[in-house]
Amino acid sequence: MTSIMWFRRDLRLEDNQALAHALNNSEKLILLFQVNPKQFLENSINQQAFFASVAHFRKKVNQKLHLQILYGEPLDCFNRIKKEIPNWNHIYFNRDECGFGFTRDEAAKIFFRQNEIAVHDFLDAHLHSAQEIKTLSNDFYKVFTPYYRNWLQRPKPQPIKVAMDQKKMVSATLFPEDEKRFSDYLTTLKISPSTSVGQQAAKEKLNQFIAKNLSDYTENRDIPIKNATSHLSRYLRTGEISIRTVWQAVQEAEDSLGKETFQKELCWRDFYTMIYAANPQQKEQPIQKNFSFIQWENNEEQFRQWKDGLTGYPIVDAAMRQLKETGWMHNRLRMIVASFLTKDLLIDWRWGEQYFQQMLVDYDPASNIGGWQWAASTGTDAVPYFRIFNPTTQSKKFDPSGDFIRHYVPELANVPDDLIHQPEKMSAPQQRMTNTLIGKNYPAPIVNHQLARKRAIAAYEMSKDWA
Ligand code: FAD
Repeated sequence: MTSIMWFRRDLRLEDNQALAHALNNSEKLILLFQVNPKQFLENSINQQAFFASVAHFRKKVNQKLHLQILYGEPLDCFNRIKKEIPNWNHIYFNRDECGFGFTRDEAAKIFFRQNEIAVHDFLDAHLHSAQEIKTLSNDFYKVFTPYYRNWLQRPKPQPIKVAMDQKKMVSATLFPEDEKRFSDYLTTLKISPSTSVGQQAAKEKLNQFIAKNLSDYTENRDIPIKNATSHLSRYLRTGEISIRTVWQAVQEAEDSLGKETFQKELCWRDFYTMIYAANPQQKEQPIQKNFSFIQWENNEEQFRQWKDGLTGYPIVDAAMRQLKETGWMHNRLRMIVASFLTKDLLIDWRWGEQYFQQMLVDYDPASNIGGWQWAASTGTDAVPYFRIFNPTTQSKKFDPSGDFIRHYVPELANVPDDLIHQPEKMSAPQQRMTNTLIGKNYPAPIVNHQLARKRAIAAYEMSKDWA
């Protein structure tokens, strides 16, 4: 009797639900990662980051065991395995509860049933399943706060032990051609060896965060220059750290308000997964149907300026350059740039969502779509369409000294604090003195916020009228 442990976004050998069960219940176990070239994105930091983690995981596993790589579409791969190993009759994996992963799993389950392969799937990526927390009338929640209250009072799952047993493992390379194709693909990605990936790196990040930033998380988490958030998103996305391990470590930390605030952020992650499970069309469609008819401007030149950090709004530009340089962006800045794109530029939130998909090292469909629909006011429990972020006010509030701006927008390095948020207000001599020549080496604002605000409100109201 042979079983397969199918790794997907749970790239770790510790505290892994499906792996623990597979080891306890199998006679022979194959460790598998399946690479689907149909999912490849071009020029994508997201892709590079994800496969850096897969490559690292493969290297670690292969030190003592063997991670079989199958290259191709899932059903083709499973067909080939079944032909090669006819006595394969159990599969273990950790569930995807929404989006592409959910659809893939549903199709795979049909194949498994037809081929008499028993499916053992587990909740692993989240503290609570998308189906677990419902309203009294057994509906999905739509609003975060009551969901959070319900979520908070439920016991949280504990980390689980994985009893590794080398004797059970199939360590021969079963599909050498596939392994070669994957290795060839990895070389095209030009992954930097200094990229900090893997279980160990994730644990260090967690421990550093708890020691240095957790107690003041509530006060500092919104100030990008303080760099006071955990940066765990990238590891939670690949599963290089388990959410149960994170929860337990934070729970055991000294009591602080920071702990409560941080745990609430983890709840947002579960919340958005539940929202995506409840609204499977949300990558394409606004959740609030009222806003299906917004007449987006979709100006391609302005979209390019937004992507390149050349909008003339320093906080937006600094944030977009942080994304381009590092593949990560601070949460407050994600809200500011998403609001700017959708409201100030009146560009369709789906364009922004896709760009983030290409760029984010922590890309998570549920959180990303949730964040975009929140900022675009089209989502569930979203910011109301008439409450539009003023990018200059946001900048003054969350980067008062302008140090974050100066870090990512070197053209503004010499601009004094009182003008850093609106450098276009500098006189001609000030521009010369600071070497910031508006319209020459730094752009004038590409839209007037006050006019853009009125235009956005009108577009949203018109959509409501048509709905
Ligand atoms: P911390 O502040 O340390 O938070 C701890 C963890 O809580 C995060 O790692 C994350 O898993 C979770 N979390 C925190 N805030 C949120 C939130 N608002 N929604 C869901 N989970 C949250 N997060 C992603 O993981 N992937 C995405 O693709 C993503 N896209 C976003 C797009 C937009 C437009 C917006 C507004 C937010 C998006 N977020 C996304 C949420 C949030 O910005 C990131 O989770 C956070 O910035 C990650 O940094 P951190 O790990 O240091 O966060």
